[in-house]
Amino acid sequence: KKAASEKITMKVLDLAEASTEQIDAALKRPSQKSADAIMKIIVPIIDDVRKNGDKAVLSYTHKFEKATSLSSPVLRAPFPEALMQLPEETIKAIDVSFENIRKFHAAQKEEKPLQVETMPGVVCSRFSRPIEAVGLYVPGGTAVLPSTALMLGVPAMVAGCQKIVLASPPRGDGSITPEIVYVAHKVGAESIVLAGGAQAVAAMAYGTESVTKVDKILGPGNQFVTAAKMYVSNDTNAGVGIDMPAGPSEVLVIADKDANPAFVASDLLSQAEHGVDSQVILIAIDLSDAELAAIEDELHRQAMELPRVDIVRGSIAHSLTVKVKTVDEAMEISNKYAPEHLILQIKDAEKAVEKVMNAGSVFIGEWTPESVGDYSAGVNHSLPTYGYAKQYSGVNLASFVKHITSSNLTAEGLRNVGDAVMQLAKVEELEAHRRAVSIRLDHMNRK
Ligand code: NAD
Repeated sequence: KKAASEKITMKVLDLAEASTEQIDAALKRPSQKSADAIMKIIVPIIDDVRKNGDKAVLSYTHKFEKATSLSSPVLRAPFPEALMQLPEETIKAIDVSFENIRKFHAAQKEEKPLQVETMPGVVCSRFSRPIEAVGLYVPGGTAVLPSTALMLGVPAMVAGCQKIVLASPPRGDGSITPEIVYVAHKVGAESIVLAGGAQAVAAMAYGTESVTKVDKILGPGNQFVTAAKMYVSNDTNAGVGIDMPAGPSEVLVIADKDANPAFVASDLLSQAEHGVDSQVILIAIDLSDAELAAIEDELHRQAMELPRVDIVRGSIAHSLTVKVKTVDEAMEISNKYAPEHLILQIKDAEKAVEKVMNAGSVFIGEWTPESVGDYSAGVNHSLPTYGYAKQYSGVNLASFVKHITSSNLTAEGLRNVGDAVMQLAKVEELEAHRRAVSIRLDHMNRK
């Protein structure tokens, strides 16, 4: 264990001196725990919930959350006012954030169906419909995470999901933090499942006497939650989808001479305080030793004032600074790493966005700390980690809808496209397919 007085510093590599292999190795995410061991724990829990429903869910809540007084695993709307008593300033903060998140996700709605006439008389359309029932996992029995409830609940509401089910492990006394009940009320949730972990995921995937079965489960959580989501999404009996794979949170900050060292340090720390497994990376563009030292000094000074300084020590221990010469070099490293959060504290930051190929969410310029996106700006904070930003988007309105396509042909349209269809059906030796067209063309020709 490091001494409390020891200086909190980041490891430094210089692109001009280190090999690509060294940089790649230093930027590698810590490998995740073996899935096998976790599966051995969660599969029996999932099976138990499937077979024994509410009784099983309750028994795990009694065991893991110590909420032994709880006699029903579900709290149904309308939620009693008494369960959402909050200080005025908290209500105001939730309301402001709710409205910004609502506005930004409402703007993602496709107002009218996409329609294309691919040939005369051949009209193809695509339209979206909300996923009917969604289950939103809000982690933590002791932690208060109204922001996670907002980031999942508001887009579900905007998308028009008919049934919004929240799940969160209750506190030892069987209650749910009032912030979460208030958000559940605001987004029009039908119920809150008072359970966590694999049992909550299983209850929503299969349904129980009192838990509504959902079509898709979203939200972060610990390794038990993540493994349970993966497991149920692979079970065709459940018929349930999930959002993206989740791993420890991460930030990559690109800073140049224009950046304020105190701002850069504060951004690095706001990620570092999440957990010891958080990754924090600084790409320093053309900074002198003195300029880099100014950031490092700020980092130490600010860290020492934080209540979670011990967690910061843990995460900073495996974080990294890479010194580069140009914006292009910085972007190349960032795109390869594909950070969950990318912060641009550089001159002409807005222009540099063009060069971003892989990132969950980008924070542009000195007045945009990541925290604004974590809570209140309007963008979503449920983002791909672990390099999955290369192929996944963060949670957005599309996470709560599915797209349906349609074709609509006139007689002329079928005449235009019919030959191609019949020929391909012939090639694939699917005679009924070919005839479905020819029978109609013959009919037209007889008229
Ligand atoms: P959690 O709600 O994810 O998990 C709690 C549940 O874990 C318990 O209900 C229990 O069912 C299960 N569990 C615990 N020990 C178990 C065991 N030995 N066997 C079987 N099941 C067990 O809450 P948490 O554990 O506090 O973890 C929170 C997670 O969420 C962290 O990994 C954190 O990184 C992540 N997180 C994400 C965000 C976000 O992206 N918004 C915010 C905060 C936390």
